Amino acid sequence: MNSSLAEERKSGGLLIGLDIGGTKLHGLLVDRAGRVFESETLPTGAEEGSDAITGRIYRLTERLLPRGSRVDAIGIGVPGPLDAHAGVILKTENLPFRNLPLAAMMRERFGMPVILENDGSAAAWGEYSFGPAKGADPLVYLTVSTGIGAGAVAGGKLYRGKNGNALEAGHIPLLAGKGPVCACGGRGCAEALASGKAIAEKAAEAAQAARERRGAPTRLSTLAVPQAADVFSLASGGDEVAERILSEALSFIGYCAATLAVLFDPQAIVVGGGLARSGPRVGEAVRSAIAATPTCAAGGCTVISPGLGDNAGALGAASLAAKTEHGSIR
Ligand SMILES: [Zn+2]
Repeated sequence: MNSSLAEERKSGGLLIGLDIGGTKLHGLLVDRAGRVFESETLPTGAEEGSDAITGRIYRLTERLLPRGSRVDAIGIGVPGPLDAHAGVILKTENLPFRNLPLAAMMRERFGMPVILENDGSAAAWGEYSFGPAKGADPLVYLTVSTGIGAGAVAGGKLYRGKNGNALEAGHIPLLAGKGPVCACGGRGCAEALASGKAIAEKAAEAAQAARERRGAPTRLSTLAVPQAADVFSLASGGDEVAERILSEALSFIGYCAATLAVLFDPQAIVVGGGLARSGPRVGEAVRSAIAATPTCAAGGCTVISPGLGDNAGALGAASLAAKTEHGSIR
């Protein structure tokens, strides 16, 4: 144990933050200043079902619990929609959860206050509290990874909406009533057009068309299951089909960011998530969409790369748990 953790042990100020994602479960043991003492990641194993995932969430938490020290609270960032007041995950598109009372289950198992927060909101709070955009207000956080999400801080507070589901930016209907069907049941949502999942699906279609000589040749056809990351790397290598898929998705990501900027008049937009971190293109697309939207451009909103990497959601969730240690009702 290092000396900082020993100090925290005395003051009992430790927190656990978890970030439940479609591909991995990430957890941190932190203090209130955002210092990270332990970090653990497990694969989500979404295909194994709800019970298997909750078992792994318990295991992840057990690994983070410090021996002999008190943890004050646990905060969990989860994909929505959720009922944040009741601590229940209502339904998740990339995970097999339905009406899962995760906060109550965790409270019962670990005997401490547990809060659930929308993952985009948790990451927004993490970046606002500890990232390079610290203190920027209003701050909008947009995440582009397997899915698309967002969160916002305004007036020093997280903007949650009625049930904790504000800024579900992946379901902004960019092509209302048209375009691909989204997992939410809508049509033409940002997530169905421009998420990592949507990009991978378009790559698979283009690869199949190329193999059957119905479509333009592309190196995507040499990959068994092309992923969004392959589209980014092939596009940068000059593959025209990959570039077309990517530019189309990026223009939708830009619309999504510009929509949020028009609504919030933010001091800063932080663009995070796995795809944004994989290279400069997502950030560039957001910057040019903001510059091309007069209302946003005049507002002087800054587009900032996140500084907390994979930790933003877990750090934000832990910090929010510290603010609401006495239960899930806020
Ligand atoms: Zn949708």
